[in-house]
Amino acid sequence: MINLIGKAASPGISIGKVHLLDEDQIQIQDRTLTDSEIDKEVERFLNAIKSTEDDIKKFKENVEKNLGDAYGEIFDAHLMILRDKVFLEKVISEIKIQRKNSDQVFYRIMKKTQESLSATDDKYLKERASDFKDIKRRILRKLQGDDRLCIHQISEPAIIVSYELTPSLTVGLEKSKILGFATELGGRTSHAAILARALEVPSIVGVKDLLKNIEPGDNAIIDGNSGNLIVNPDNEVIEKYKSLKEGLFQFSKSLEKIISLPAKTLDDKEIDLSANIELPQELDSVISYGSHGIGLYRTEYLYLLKSQLPTEEEQFDDYKSIVQRIYPNPVIIRTIDLGGDKVIKTPKGLKEDNPFLGWRGIRVCFDYPELFKTQLKAILRASTMRNLAVMFPMISSLDELIKAKAFLEESKEELRKQNIDFDENIKLGVMIELPSAVLAADELAKEVDFFSIGTNDLIQYTLAVDRANVRVSNLYQFYHPAVLKLIKMTVEAGHNNNIWVGMCGEMAGDPLATYLLIGMGLDELSVSPLILGEIKQIIRSINYSDAVKISEECLNMKSADEIESYLSNIMKEKFPTIPL
Ligand code: PEP
Ligand code: MG
Repeated sequence: MINLIGKAASPGISIGKVHLLDEDQIQIQDRTLTDSEIDKEVERFLNAIKSTEDDIKKFKENVEKNLGDAYGEIFDAHLMILRDKVFLEKVISEIKIQRKNSDQVFYRIMKKTQESLSATDDKYLKERASDFKDIKRRILRKLQGDDRLCIHQISEPAIIVSYELTPSLTVGLEKSKILGFATELGGRTSHAAILARALEVPSIVGVKDLLKNIEPGDNAIIDGNSGNLIVNPDNEVIEKYKSLKEGLFQFSKSLEKIISLPAKTLDDKEIDLSANIELPQELDSVISYGSHGIGLYRTEYLYLLKSQLPTEEEQFDDYKSIVQRIYPNPVIIRTIDLGGDKVIKTPKGLKEDNPFLGWRGIRVCFDYPELFKTQLKAILRASTMRNLAVMFPMISSLDELIKAKAFLEESKEELRKQNIDFDENIKLGVMIELPSAVLAADELAKEVDFFSIGTNDLIQYTLAVDRANVRVSNLYQFYHPAVLKLIKMTVEAGHNNNIWVGMCGEMAGDPLATYLLIGMGLDELSVSPLILGEIKQIIRSINYSDAVKISEECLNMKSADEIESYLSNIMKEKFPTIPL
């Protein structure tokens, strides 16, 4: 039994078998072979070796032709590994003894070799570790053909353990097959973690040495509340987690009684408590957890789900069905925010060294006017029930906002010319997620009907911490005094200009932040549907006047630790049963 610690990314507890994806997101299945399958499996493995050897010989020839013989020698080390009889016999005999599929046996042996080479002090041997890694990847791909990314083909529900999960991979998964996610990389606000919450799958990210400590076929427990991952737990531990799971279930049942009640404080301050969605299938949860409406629909997932760009008609159908189901409550559709960690292939798609500082959000839309207008027209056409608002992401200046508004006006004009109905008074909002937008908030507020603070990015850009980078995740702080000041400045700028100010970043769904955010004057909080009941319960149990005092205290404090422990003490005392 091994206990690993990561960052809690999506709440809940899962117990089950591990389904492993290696560093290159290649799945390592765990299959037990029948007598008649063993010889075929050995043959399959030897074919993969032969085919890889042929590929490498071809590469070598090409490189020698183009760059000279010396460069071709780089591939000799690879060929030596593939021709190493001792190694090949070891894999073959293990397939026979363990009666396991070749991918799994091969993966284990390669992993061990790679680890011991990396651990030596010998520079030459250390470098060989990367040759082993490369060969491992090539052969696993051969063994698995084009199926390697089809993890939705998992035969039975399992905990997906992976070095990394990308949004485009996660979005294609079949929820019924996934008991949980654990990844070595990633932060709480990375988009794969956000998707895990959307799928309501318990998850942990940023687990150090995860792949070193886990093997295909292991059993595991994921505790998405505390961030613990237990590999091959004993019975006593399994029983303990079963009872914790039951406790969480009872807690969420106890929240059912407030589903249809408003998110109003004891002294009658009402907050619009809405939900963030990424996928249309989340609507059932949004409704069943008692949301006021949708405060953020991340529309880019429709793009990630498809191999081609969605048409105006497809987008219209998607938006219309959401708007109709949520009616008469409001729905805020954010125009696509592709880029960063949400990447699609486009003619202009270049590999970027700093994708979060690169071609992202509104910048992509400005470069593809037709793509932008197609979406805007689909949104406008879906607005006829008058409960739809539109919002732009990643706005960094007044100029950009004015330019984006011009696209909206052009789209309206095109629809008018075609006599197509839409809401002429559709509300427009802007995400405040860059420090420059906070500093320009007073001017921006004069151009829009509302602000929605995107703390996920606001924190990343203010503190210069990549939100998905596990190495610096301790520096990614919701409660950094600078972040609090920026939130306060945004609320004041909005209110001074008579517009409402909401928050749709993940901080809005942190129970520790509720007192603080309500006290700072936020009018709306938009959170993952999963956490909505808990946040509503807190809002309904506190006084706005206390929240104001608490937020003032926090704004005077000098460090994130001080603020966090102050809030944590208040919450533990007042809400001992709420999982923080
Ligand atoms: C944010 O940045 O806080 C936000 C809500 O947008 P996203 O997480 O999609 O970048
Ligand atoms: Mg953002």
